[in-house]
Amino acid sequence: MKLYRPEEECGIFGIFNHPEAANLTYLGLYALQHRGQEACGIVSSDGTSLHAHKGMGLVADVFGNQEIFKQLPGDGAIGHVRYSTSGSSVIKNVQPIMIDYSRGSIAVSHNGNIVNAQIIKDELEAWGSIFQTTMDTEIIVHLLATSKTSSLIERISDSLKRVKGAYCLLFLTETRMIAVRDPQGYRPLCLGKLGNSFVVASESCALDLIEAEFIREIEPGEIVEISKNGMASYFPFKKVEPAPCIFEFVYFARPDSTIFGKNVYLVRKELGRQLAREHRVEADVVIPVPDSGVPAAMGYAEESGIPFELGLIRNHYVGRTFIEPQQAIRHFGVKIKLNPVRELLKGKRVVVIDDSIVRGTTSRKIVKMVRNAGASEVHVLISSPPTSYPCYYGIDTPNRKELISSSHTIEEIRKYITADSVGYLSPEGLTQAVGTENTSYCRACFTGDYPIKFPQLRPDSQLGLFEKEL
Ligand code: AMP
Repeated sequence: MKLYRPEEECGIFGIFNHPEAANLTYLGLYALQHRGQEACGIVSSDGTSLHAHKGMGLVADVFGNQEIFKQLPGDGAIGHVRYSTSGSSVIKNVQPIMIDYSRGSIAVSHNGNIVNAQIIKDELEAWGSIFQTTMDTEIIVHLLATSKTSSLIERISDSLKRVKGAYCLLFLTETRMIAVRDPQGYRPLCLGKLGNSFVVASESCALDLIEAEFIREIEPGEIVEISKNGMASYFPFKKVEPAPCIFEFVYFARPDSTIFGKNVYLVRKELGRQLAREHRVEADVVIPVPDSGVPAAMGYAEESGIPFELGLIRNHYVGRTFIEPQQAIRHFGVKIKLNPVRELLKGKRVVVIDDSIVRGTTSRKIVKMVRNAGASEVHVLISSPPTSYPCYYGIDTPNRKELISSSHTIEEIRKYITADSVGYLSPEGLTQAVGTENTSYCRACFTGDYPIKFPQLRPDSQLGLFEKEL
């Protein structure tokens, strides 16, 4: 039996009604590269058929040859960048998925994770469906192809009513582009306009690059249909309490993006200020772990009055180290990526700010690096609460056993990473810094309070404590 594989962090982009749709999608994906570096793809529509190009690797590598765009004609296109996790990193799992069925062709890009995928898949297989990939996204396509309802919008909403979890979806047919955000709105998705073309992207930074105007975010539970006739919006799902992912603010989104109504950079800076209010440390210098720790470290420095320096310099040609699938590579990765500026750190009491500790590997290496550079004290402060619970809604946190804070006290973590002190932002501080207007953020990775209960053991997971408890 082939097991589904969750689609974790990803980025999606689409444009409709533009003569250079595939080219602009390439640029959009480029701006969303931070959301996934393992693989990418574009499907275009020329009004009568769909065309695809997909590959493993970065956007610039997969689409590095201008000739490729000749194979992607038409004025509609959707694209996808996919995050890397260990396991089935194979080309057949690269998105957008494209199928031909009784009513024509359809392609789909998905960001998120469907929690009841295995249940639906077992059912569909029992009815004779044959799956080509191990991605949960394919389940949506099968539901769609077997739906008995007449219009495409009905088929999409009908299919999605069976699906539980996090999804931002972009569909492309010969004549339409359709965007969907799940009723809880876990992942960000925004709508823009470029002349007479509509654009949809995971984050607003992708609209900025192509000089599209930001119109608004696609709302939780909304389906947006874009065709030659313009745009139509539908709300077919039962209204539920929204649960946008707070970790997008903490780590995942790009700081220049506006998501869930707020600019990410400003939120991160406020997280740093709040951290300074909660954890005052006697120190000479504040340094960030670049890049994700930079705005929080600036906020911390402003609030505490301790000078900010770029004490660690990042090699920008290395991807996010965490993204490397194997532990051995990750260990090496920190050194490849970061180098200390000894002259700034020698003899100093240093506060190092990062956004999160997952397994503790990065912090341990960094503390050692800063100490070896001559720091007299190294204090690690984290601009979010301890990440103690895995995410089932699209952020690729490891299972619970691997999350250091799920089984270690803060003192034990301090010892492990060999810091002089460790401090985390409080859950209340996080809420306050992000803002209390939307109090229903999903904070499950910090609290274990999952907005959608996980319906069964994940068959592909090594059992973590949480999964056993359920
Ligand atoms: P670790 O070494 O496992 O403790 O990873 C911590 C580092 O990974 C921090 O510097 C974070 O910025 C980064 N990080 C946190 N969550 C994620 C994630 N879901 N994907 C990639 N990187 C992450």
